[in-house]
Amino acid sequence: MDIVLSILVALALLVLLFLLLIRKRKKKQAIQPVPASYRELLSQGVPFYQQLDQTQQELFANRVQHFIASTRITGVNTVVEEIDKVYVAASAVIPTFGFPDWEYININEVLLYPDSFNHDFEQQGTDRSILGMVGTGAYEDVMILSQHELRQGFLNKTGKSNTAIHEFVHLVDKTDGSTDGVPEFALQHNYVLPWLDLVHKKMKQILANRSDIDPYGATNQAEFFAVVAEYFFERPDLLKEKHPDLYEVLSSIFRQQPAGKMK
Ligand SMILES: [Zn+2]
Repeated sequence: MDIVLSILVALALLVLLFLLLIRKRKKKQAIQPVPASYRELLSQGVPFYQQLDQTQQELFANRVQHFIASTRITGVNTVVEEIDKVYVAASAVIPTFGFPDWEYININEVLLYPDSFNHDFEQQGTDRSILGMVGTGAYEDVMILSQHELRQGFLNKTGKSNTAIHEFVHLVDKTDGSTDGVPEFALQHNYVLPWLDLVHKKMKQILANRSDIDPYGATNQAEFFAVVAEYFFERPDLLKEKHPDLYEVLSSIFRQQPAGKMK
């Protein structure tokens, strides 16, 4: 009996040791230095990163690495390269950079398709207009992006759009449970109605053809929020000039002031 007990105790100790070793390894993983290649890709291709000071760049790069380490990025009929991982992660970090401890609670995988796809995730056929989407149902917690569009969003330096940032803004919006264009965690209760008034005023201008905001923003409140967020992060100076009211609210929602910094 004593022998059995000793064996059991020994086994228990072994299991404990094993668990401790695993934990140590995980901790080690978390503090790995950011690869130089990530920094290079960020410096070359991500204007948002270029305008940050050195300390902020360090924080940004760390968060990019953390996102890549904690989120699967999978290619569907395409090969995911390092540049894709860095661009996906940068798109995730940009809208949440004003929140130092931000963790996305609603994503665990990003699927990259070579190009646009349709509602049934088919890549062939005529209705292939979707360039990015946040999944629902069986695709809950999955984001789908066109690889071509992902790269294009960063290559085109003068546009007001960036599909990957757009999709991550939907996830930010969804943090409070609903993708409705009202990010409740960031808007104090008494600011919700004024925000909705502004949203509807701007949507009306789009529908009347009197706006430089992408017409897709008039689809509904959620799309409006994602579309103007792209504009805010891609062309902050232009947004501030053309829509100072919108720029002001978005600055307080995202806790960032990108205008005056981007080249
Ligand atoms: Zn959208």
